[in-house]
Amino acid sequence: MSGPWFIRGAQVLGAGEPADLVVSDGVIADAGAGLAVPAGAQLVDASGLIALPGLVDLHTHLREPGREDAETVESGTLAAALGGYTAVFAMPNTEPAADTAGVVEQVWRLGAAAGYVDVVPVGAVTVGRRGETLAELGAMADSAAAVRVFSDDGDCVSDPLLMRRALEYVKAFDGVVAQHAQDPRLTEHAQMNEGALSGTLGLAGWPAVAEEAIIARDVLLAAHVGSRLHVCHVSTAGSVELIRWAKSKGWQVTAEVTPHHLLLTDQLVSSYDPAYKVNPPLRSETDVFALREGLADGTIDAVATDHAPHPVEDKDCEWSAAAFGMLGLQTALPAVQEAMVETGLLDWTGIADRLSVRPARIGRLLGHGRPLEAGAPANIVLYDPAASWVVDPAALASKSRNTPFAGRRLPGSVVATFLGGRPTVLDGKAA
Ligand SMILES: [Zn+2]
Repeated sequence: MSGPWFIRGAQVLGAGEPADLVVSDGVIADAGAGLAVPAGAQLVDASGLIALPGLVDLHTHLREPGREDAETVESGTLAAALGGYTAVFAMPNTEPAADTAGVVEQVWRLGAAAGYVDVVPVGAVTVGRRGETLAELGAMADSAAAVRVFSDDGDCVSDPLLMRRALEYVKAFDGVVAQHAQDPRLTEHAQMNEGALSGTLGLAGWPAVAEEAIIARDVLLAAHVGSRLHVCHVSTAGSVELIRWAKSKGWQVTAEVTPHHLLLTDQLVSSYDPAYKVNPPLRSETDVFALREGLADGTIDAVATDHAPHPVEDKDCEWSAAAFGMLGLQTALPAVQEAMVETGLLDWTGIADRLSVRPARIGRLLGHGRPLEAGAPANIVLYDPAASWVVDPAALASKSRNTPFAGRRLPGSVVATFLGGRPTVLDGKAA
């Protein structure tokens, strides 16, 4: 299946006349209307399909090493390819944590061996993600994995001095600190969004200010030291306002939102179904609308999945005991289509920008998020926006089943994904 490939009649970025794409030797060799089929090329009929640059996820939990019962690099990256992704950033809250050159290189090699997407390890900010001393950021940056994104995700770097030092340190190699903004004291024992419903349900509330206070502090720190800050999984209207203000100052601040925070609200928690338990928690409808508006106007740069697999025994239990987290890779593009395209807030060029171009740029990933034109690396997704499907957890490629969309009809489906000129997905199945 090494090509060349001839993709016939795709609508590039969902606009204009259908075009053909010739894929050869890992790159887009030619792009345009009515091209000749090269000798020996294999054909993909893309009529009715949209071609986008392969999606890039800044926030994936692959769970390996340590929790291979929940996910492996292989199962998680297959889910990613089936979701239209060609690159994922693997979060470091593994066991052991990815806090050394050795662990990030191990994850990077497992990704290359699986071959479904480019796996880019995120390095931990602090040793063991314990928030006490800085990890060897420089050694991870210099490693074969060439780490540029650092995060203690799952936990907040709550010590302001450590956060300052990390922001200063990553400047040396154009890195970025991706913060999980959650004040630990304000969220002790927190179980769901703090509001009227948390009181009614008797679940400990997770106030918006616990996220917003950390973001306010961190954008000021990033400005003070002249470094790059990325805010993970923004979930409140106030957070959007703070990031809009920081950007208006010209500070180097970027942010992401998850598909579930664009589509679901805390009202779902009244079912006590732990499928809806996530960190940060699902918020109010007002927050959802502010997040959509922030993504539409570019205040929020990217959609990131926060794909967080958990085995059944960690999810199918009473609410308070259940783990935080949701699957996301195979439902992200359909969920964003529903939240942003079908509401008229973004067109497909905007979708490509928020799910590929900008996340690749934030992570300094040069081969992804490029225009689909001659000479670009052939990282491509072909998507049918007119299709729809009902999410069946058992049919997902992940080793876990904790999707919040079980039984829900979502629009659109990924038909094919090409990574470096090679199909990883054809006809909606692993190639
Ligand atoms: Zn997080």
